[in-house]
Amino acid sequence: MTRTTGISWTDATWNPVTGCTIVSAGCTNCYAMKMAARIEAMGNQPRYEGTTRKVNGNAVWTGKLAQAPESVLLTPLKRKKPTTYFVNSMGDLFHEDVPDDWIDRVFAVMALCPQHTFQVLTKRAERMRDYVSAVVETFHASPDSMDARFGQLCADVAGSPCAAGAFEDIDWPLPNVWLGVSTERQQEADERIPLLLQTPAAVRFISAEPLLGPINLKPWLHQWGCSCGWGGPYGADLCEDCDEVFDGGASETDCVNCPKCGEATNSSACPDCKYGSSFGPNPARLNWVIVGGESGPNARPMHPAWARDLRDQCKAAGVAFFFKQWGEHAPHSHPGAYEGHAVHLQSEGRWIDGIGDAENTMFRVGKKAAGRHLDGVAGVGPAAEGEDLHRAHGGSGQRDQLAAAQAGAVERDHAESRGGQCDPAPDARPHPLAQQHGSDARALQRAHVDVNLGLV
Ligand code: SF4
Ligand SMILES: [Zn+2]
Ligand SMILES: [Zn+2]
Repeated sequence: MTRTTGISWTDATWNPVTGCTIVSAGCTNCYAMKMAARIEAMGNQPRYEGTTRKVNGNAVWTGKLAQAPESVLLTPLKRKKPTTYFVNSMGDLFHEDVPDDWIDRVFAVMALCPQHTFQVLTKRAERMRDYVSAVVETFHASPDSMDARFGQLCADVAGSPCAAGAFEDIDWPLPNVWLGVSTERQQEADERIPLLLQTPAAVRFISAEPLLGPINLKPWLHQWGCSCGWGGPYGADLCEDCDEVFDGGASETDCVNCPKCGEATNSSACPDCKYGSSFGPNPARLNWVIVGGESGPNARPMHPAWARDLRDQCKAAGVAFFFKQWGEHAPHSHPGAYEGHAVHLQSEGRWIDGIGDAENTMFRVGKKAAGRHLDGVAGVGPAAEGEDLHRAHGGSGQRDQLAAAQAGAVERDHAESRGGQCDPAPDARPHPLAQQHGSDARALQRAHVDVNLGLV
């Protein structure tokens, strides 16, 4: 069964896999681990049995994983109302011990549900890249083997041979599947975002929650990026004859004359480090950034400057940004903040008890009181009113906003030249996912599947 959810950037959670093991700093206070222990204690959910054990009174993962029963796996197929699903809040779909054929079944269901949007979030970016890349390569190189692998599976999970036929019209990467990675600190961003950007996907997003430190996303938000941390709408020019680095105003392919020696050149360089070891145009960029602080008894504070900086980086690049929550701690400017327990950030990055200077002090006021507004705005995106949109559209506003931002990104990719980036004006863009869902082939496919599932 899927569940409606308190996660403000999605409509429902869908858990084809339960159980996990911790992998990085963001896992320390894993909510799923505690919740799995509670569900297991209730005794009526076999797929949680043995997934956790108690150590010093605390629930910890055992590493045992379970696949969801058919009733859970097939839930999205039976729901006609377009829904945004967060895939796997109670484990990690790309955990190293999840067999490929479990993942195949999840992708088969997602492929047969073009009416829904699936947001798949992982901390195992390499496994996700390898799995999705291999499937997409097979789709392009050997459609017959793809049909054998997924067509039959679609028929099996849908209980209908027509599902196999419908599968033939499905494009990969699946247009209704968004892929994301968790990036709690710069370290995880550096490791996982390049892998995410190597993964074929309709939409790529990151969840910086719990945000545990400052993150520079610029290398992956813009048209051009560099391993030194620079990112921007265009790079500089490099003269191959005299090594002069200059802003020639040319496109990637046009030659410009070096102002120093006069030779024609069309090489590019990083404007910051001049010769970045991996400077160049980004083949893909992030489409959406989610930021949030931690909740729960051992919650670690999120410094306001870290969240604001990510918001500002996204704004400068025209990338959708969603502020989910402060978590347990609020900044000093929050109403009633001084009634909460104070911690402050030391220069070496450690939080210690007590009030320090105002800008570096956070107060434990509780998740609810801390709220979901950053500088007075919740769910900030390019339209700067994400939360209101979200409510007004019955939960789909954030999706529309992001899709519009994605359309803006696609258009910029085609239209942008050295003249700088254009304002995406997201609300005016067509909805790329809606366009694809509205195509005759997909409508036909949907109708086939609906008939055979007895939904119409
Ligand atoms: S990867 Fe996710 S589910 Fe697994 S331990 Fe970490 S936070 Fe929890
Ligand atoms: Zn020169
Ligand atoms: Zn550089």
